[in-house]
Order: sequence, then structure tokens, then C-alpha cells
Amino acid sequence: MKQVALVTGSSRGIGRAVAAELAKEGYAVCVNYLRHRKAAEALVSQLRAQGREALAIQADVADSRAVEEMVRQAESDLGPVTLLVNNAGISWQGLFQDTDDETWDRILAVNLTGARNAARAVLPRMISEKTGCIVNISSMWGLRGASCEVAYACSKAAIIGLTRSLALELAPSGIRVNCVAPGCIETDMVRVLGRETRDMLVAETPLGRLGTPEDIAHAVSFLASEKASFLTGQVLTADGGFIV
Ligand code: NAP
Repeated sequence: MKQVALVTGSSRGIGRAVAAELAKEGYAVCVNYLRHRKAAEALVSQLRAQGREALAIQADVADSRAVEEMVRQAESDLGPVTLLVNNAGISWQGLFQDTDDETWDRILAVNLTGARNAARAVLPRMISEKTGCIVNISSMWGLRGASCEVAYACSKAAIIGLTRSLALELAPSGIRVNCVAPGCIETDMVRVLGRETRDMLVAETPLGRLGTPEDIAHAVSFLASEKASFLTGQVLTADGGFIV
């Protein structure tokens, strides 16, 4: 069966590295983005130049209709999605008391409901084929508390709940659902925190460096592979030892 991956939020950062890694492994890849069209199209051109099928589609994962339309277009152009990587995510730093309704709702809508929307849209084909794989991107902050990132940490803990419950519900259909919980990874999301915070995070990471987007791409690729065929409902923490 043709391998087709949909990677949400793959114009930049971790998602971009995941899309590139999966293409290298032979997947046709749908590159989803929200705002950075040029970056998404540049990645698609790069993957096509390497002889892979790729397609960029704009959709806000928080918008269930837009996600359904994206999956319809991806399936008509590339074929049924066999691997969904729920990566699109946003973060926000601030006191719990200063988190207004709009910020709270948006973080949960993108980070949690976005993953639900994409899973729900790809599942009809996966269930009818009785095969498929979903890899969700959580965070180490979904496994432990994160001061000044309460909404983000809640959304990432919920992704772990989504992973475990969906894994049980979909196992009889031959669909595996796992998640990766990254530590501090060198992307725009961490760069905005500034040099001082970055250095502090490096110092707190036992392996003495920030992770690269490729470190996470390798974890995703493993969970999606046949080598992980007996793994479902699992959380693979890739954090340089941060929360050990
Ligand atoms: P990033 O560099 O900020 O990139 C975010 C990506 O998500 C971009 O491609 C962005 O698209 C896309 N995106 C954002 N909102 C979206 C929406 N509503 N609909 C569709 N796409 C959307 O972030 P990152 O560091 O690579 O993070 C990727 C994932 O890893 C997130 O779920 C994040 O929570 C998780 N994570 C990151 C770290 C870390 O240290 N970096 C640690 C743990 C977990 P545009 O380019 O179009 O804006």
C-alpha cells in the first residue's frame, strides 16, 4: 500500500523535519501550514526535487471544516493518508491569572482539538483499510508541571490522554496511536524565549544541549515504522534526560 503522511504544522521547526524524514523514507507527504506559505512551498519543492510526492495545504487545525477539506484534497491528490502526525502547536508564557479566555481557548483549540480534528478526518479511510498510524506530538510539559505555561501543559497532558484512549479504541481496527514528548528543541518556539532562557534550558538538560528537530523526527519515524509494530498507546520522551 502506498505510504502517505499528513504532518500538521510542517512549514517550520519539528514538523518540517518530520516531513523531510518521512519523505526520505519514501512517504508521499502533505505539508500543512497556517501562515508561512512560502516556507511550506519551499519544503514541497525540495521534496519534489528529491523525487518525492509532496503537497502544501493551508488549514487551521482548529477549524474542523478546513481540516476535513485538507484531508479530502490530500487524499484525492496523494491517496489515503496512512500516517497522521499531529504536530501543529502553539505556546504562550504568562501567569495563570493573566491567561485570558481567548488565549486559553486558542491554545486548547489548536493543540488539543486540532489533533482531534485531524484524527477524525483521516480515520474513516484508516478504519475501512484496517491499517494506519497516528503519532501525536505532546511535550515533557504534558508529563510534569510547567509554571507560567498552565494552558500549554494542560493541552499537552490531554494529548497523552487522547493517545492512550484512542490507542485502545482503535487497536481492534489495526491502527496504532503513540506520542512523542519532546524536551527543549531548537525551533522558533524556543528561540522567542531569548538567549538567557535558552542557556538555562541547555544547562538543565542532562545531555547538555537542546534537541534538534531531527531528533524528534527520528522518534516519530521509529513509532511510525514496522519496528514499532507492537507499540500502541505509548509516550516516547525525547528530552535529553530533562525529566528523568
Ligand atoms: P514552531 O517552530 O513554532 O512551528 C509551529 C508549526 O505549527 C508551524 O509550521 C506553524 O505553521 C504550525 N501551526 C501553528 N498553529 C497552527 C494551526 N492552527 N494550524 C496549522 N498549523 C499551525 O513549533 P515547534 O517548536 O516546531 O513545535 C512543534 C510541536 O512540537 C508543537 O506541538 C509543540 O508544542 C511541540 N513541542 C515543541 C517543543 C520545543 O521545544 N520546540 C517542545 C515540546 C513540544 P506556520 O509556519 O504557517 O505558522
